[in-house]
Amino acid sequence: MHGDIERVLIPQSRIAERVRELARQITADHSPPALAGESEVTIVPILTGAMIFCADLIRHLPLPMRIGLLAVSSYPGQSIRTQGSRILGEQLGDLRGRHLLLIDDILDSGGTLKLVRSLLQERGPASVKTCVLLRKPTEGARATPVDYVGFDIPDEFVVGYGLDYDDLYRNLPDIVTLKGHLLRGKSDTE
Ligand code: 5GP
Ligand code: MG
Repeated sequence: MHGDIERVLIPQSRIAERVRELARQITADHSPPALAGESEVTIVPILTGAMIFCADLIRHLPLPMRIGLLAVSSYPGQSIRTQGSRILGEQLGDLRGRHLLLIDDILDSGGTLKLVRSLLQERGPASVKTCVLLRKPTEGARATPVDYVGFDIPDEFVVGYGLDYDDLYRNLPDIVTLKGHLLRGKSDTE
């Protein structure tokens, strides 16, 4: 697995540092007086990619919270470009009147956040905020407002820390690029 890595883009120590900074900011924004009335939040990680980021982040959030799960597929199998986002499943509970914090691993075309945000808005929450660990410099990402961003990265296909290629590499602790021959020859529509 480690022989497949081309370059470490963000090492685990920098990820951990940035996760703590984001957590401090999120905590301040979700504590009185910033948040009036109901102060409980529902954290909604977009599975599977956001699983590891979310697990690390919420352990630095000293807030009363619930967790709702939402599974979305946009890069099925060996895709390295979005194939359009699709909701695969959900376990969200009652979202009426709740403050939601939507968490995703990476913002690219913006299709996933757009789809998920509209689905959640229909459930009558008090507010919806968004947090992504990574953001690519694409037109779609620029057109998609997010409340919290971990890192702006170049427009390259990355894996590790929850992000996959063909469902592999999610358990790598760093965010990395893969050697080209592993991705080459794989059509995006296969
Ligand atoms: P968007 O819907 O904004 O185009 O893309 C968001 C989703 O696409 C992410 O949740 C992630 O699943 C996938 N994605 C986008 N860029 C990458 C990437 O560089 N690597 C991996 N592994 N997944 C990506
Ligand atoms: Mg994803």
